[in-house]
Amino acid sequence: MNADTVIVGGGIVGLCTAAAAVHRGDTVVVVDPGSAATAVSAASGGLIRRFDLGGRLGDLATAGFDRLRESAQTCAAFHRTGALTLQYSSQALPTHIRARTMLYAARAMRQRWPQITVPPNVIGVFEDGAGWVDAPVLLATARTELADRGVEFVTDRVDRLVVDQRRIGGVVTGGGRSITASRVVVAAGSSTTGLAATAGVDHPLRTRRIGYCYLRLGSDRTAGLPTIVDRVSGTWVRPCRDPELVLIGRRQEIFGVPAEIRHEISDADVHEIRTAIAQLLPEAADAPLVGGITAYDVARPDPADPPLRHCVEPRGLTVVAGWNGAGFKAAPAIAELALGDRVSVEGEES
Ligand SMILES: Cc1cc2nc3c(=O)[nH]c(=O)nc-3n(C[C@H](O)[C@H](O)[C@H](O)COP(=O)(O)OP(=O)(O)OC[C@H]3O[C@@H](n4cnc5c(N)ncnc54)[C@H](O)[C@@H]3O)c2cc1C
Repeated sequence: MNADTVIVGGGIVGLCTAAAAVHRGDTVVVVDPGSAATAVSAASGGLIRRFDLGGRLGDLATAGFDRLRESAQTCAAFHRTGALTLQYSSQALPTHIRARTMLYAARAMRQRWPQITVPPNVIGVFEDGAGWVDAPVLLATARTELADRGVEFVTDRVDRLVVDQRRIGGVVTGGGRSITASRVVVAAGSSTTGLAATAGVDHPLRTRRIGYCYLRLGSDRTAGLPTIVDRVSGTWVRPCRDPELVLIGRRQEIFGVPAEIRHEISDADVHEIRTAIAQLLPEAADAPLVGGITAYDVARPDPADPPLRHCVEPRGLTVVAGWNGAGFKAAPAIAELALGDRVSVEGEES
């Protein structure tokens, strides 16, 4: 079997890279042992927005936003709720807010969204066109569309990369299949480190715990609620398809956790989430628990280390993983970088 481009991993980054490669006329094979439903991407909260507090990820989220939203809209996976980012008023706002945003003082937020309580020293940046994506629906649709456009999906685990005279030559799967290609993109989440090592490439990553719970807040309280990224309490909130429910997650600084996704959440984690959200969304404190997810994301041990490498040797190999909890919203722009394109950010090149 051969292709112009082999993509190892069918999560959101792998699928977006497959879409970009097929768009430029490549023959493409995606290898993944699971379905799109088993990737970390399927457990993602799916909060997407252009606005970020700056930095490279903010640029990539801006660059990829329209494409991600458009794809999600065509399969009814996008929910436009607006996105509210909360921060202390003493914190500097980025000088380059590229999205169309509105700044809210605490009192104005209380008037617009009576279900949230924000202390006077906190401001909100509201991005009207943003929202959340139903990740499993988007991933399944993207996979079907890519198959229709000729992308071949191989359900197998890549065991090793093949290097031929300092160039990438393809991959070998656990099932014994050899796939030759002049370009290989490894977007295999936490497995990326081990696979890259088979071609002599160092791409260290570590897993980090991330989870969320669903609480039954009631449709009267969720009505009009935007997605919220609260940088003060470290929580993020979004409405759900079921208007009775709200999803609340909290970033955890727990590293080296098993690379597994469990459709449950511990009492201790729920307690931590309820405590953290108590001021912002007081009714969440005793709203009934409906379920949750305990998962992991991959982070770079040294944040200065780039999450994407175009390898000088072997040529033709790109490894891409470690977006520290923001890989979903940035995926279309990451895909273009993975194929070696310069990513345009609202007229600038970065
Ligand atoms: C609970 C949670 C909430 C999140 N919320 C948000 C959010 O709101 N917004 C946001 O922007 N980001 C969010 N993130 C982060 C984002 O979801 C991830 O950064 C992103 O989905 C990672 O995508 P990926 O394609 O790199 O990896 P993955 O989705 O992990 O895909 C990797 C794929 O590689 C495959 N694979 C592994 N080993 C091999 C092998 N040897 N051979 C072949 N295939 C292999 C796996 O089966 C998998 O399908 C969240 C993450 C989590 C866990």
